[in-house]
Amino acid sequence: MRILEPKRSTYKRVYRDKGYCDFCDPVVIKDQEVVVLRGQEWRVLACKYPYMDGNLMILPKRHVTHTDKLNAAEWAEFPKVLLATQKLLGELFKTDSFNLAMNLGPLSGGSVPHIHWMIVPRPKIANLSCFNVMHDFYLVQMDYKQLLKKFRAFKK
Ligand SMILES: [Zn+2]
Repeated sequence: MRILEPKRSTYKRVYRDKGYCDFCDPVVIKDQEVVVLRGQEWRVLACKYPYMDGNLMILPKRHVTHTDKLNAAEWAEFPKVLLATQKLLGELFKTDSFNLAMNLGPLSGGSVPHIHWMIVPRPKIANLSCFNVMHDFYLVQMDYKQLLKKFRAFKK
């Protein structure tokens, strides 16, 4: 199910206006980055338009628009950043289940061309702040700022 989100069109338009995409924008990075998960080649951002609570995005620091443009250093580090992200999200949301996905290429439906893996934790117990009220329709109540706050407050 699709939900009208007028701000998404602004998200896309800004790319043309600024000459670089939102995921390369220092203001966006400062606002959305989960700093504790930053690698040499990759960063992790809290998703501004989450599919479900806890939605993070793993993306190369360089502006890369296709996986075949990733360099050897980026490919070498990716599993480490993915596993660290998965581990922390798993501890924070008390689960070992996740959805991991990417829209790749201009026809795939991605809103920002800078490649990014979406990672969404799927808790073992019903997440009362994110419940399925109809088939394939989810009400997401945690915005990215609340998610970042949760990461900052999290103590192992
Ligand atoms: Zn970019």
